[in-house]
Amino acid sequence: MLEITFIPALADNYIWLLHDGNDAVIVDPGDASAVIWRLKAESYNLKAILVTHHHVDHQAGLPTLLENYPVPVYAPASESITGRSRPLSGGESIELLGMACEVIAIPGHTLGHLAYLISGALFCGDTLFTGGCGRLFEGTPAQMVDSLAKLASLPDETLIYCGHEYTEVNLRFSMAVEPGNVLTAKRSAEASFMRLRGRPTVPSTLLQEKQTNPFLRCSEPAVVAAARQRNPAANDPVSVFATLREWKNEFC
Ligand code: ZN
Ligand code: FE
Repeated sequence: MLEITFIPALADNYIWLLHDGNDAVIVDPGDASAVIWRLKAESYNLKAILVTHHHVDHQAGLPTLLENYPVPVYAPASESITGRSRPLSGGESIELLGMACEVIAIPGHTLGHLAYLISGALFCGDTLFTGGCGRLFEGTPAQMVDSLAKLASLPDETLIYCGHEYTEVNLRFSMAVEPGNVLTAKRSAEASFMRLRGRPTVPSTLLQEKQTNPFLRCSEPAVVAAARQRNPAANDPVSVFATLREWKNEFC
């Protein structure tokens, strides 16, 4: 039985820890000390490390972790990742903790960005966020729209384990885009309630994202209308997406 918990790191990163009670896998170790402390406290055997993309807050813990645990590091083949031993480019299926894990290429935030899907849990780094999406540091709006569409085609009950706790601020933007979306208003209030109690708002479900995340709603009439108020030329999903992404960059 797979369990998934988080190790908070840096300002707002989540390092995900998957375990079966004995063996463990971690995702995006931006910091080593918290991971080592947790593995020792729980007496887990670390079996592998997954990395979604090259940004430092997702891989800075690798050198110290590898000194202590010489395990395989699965990571994008086309990005610079310390200690990567299993280069991946998407489309592969690997085995982790006795389970199949699908590797999905989702360029946009970075060009080699990968997502990992294991037992209905999606580890999508900084591409799809709860309530939002990552910035386009390397890719184009069209690439990000394609990547988000790939993720949106997964089953509605897929759990979205992203790399940061950004839900509250993301949903504030969602409400600016779609003030009439009652599901967004409800989700936003729930997220604030959870954060006040120090609880994570991650994971969400893909269904929640499809209902309230404007970046997955670029064909919804209300979202298109909001984008057109900023940019009258926004008339297809890619230009609506690009308009929302630029609006979000200014928003917060
Ligand atoms: Zn990043
Ligand atoms: Fe990040």
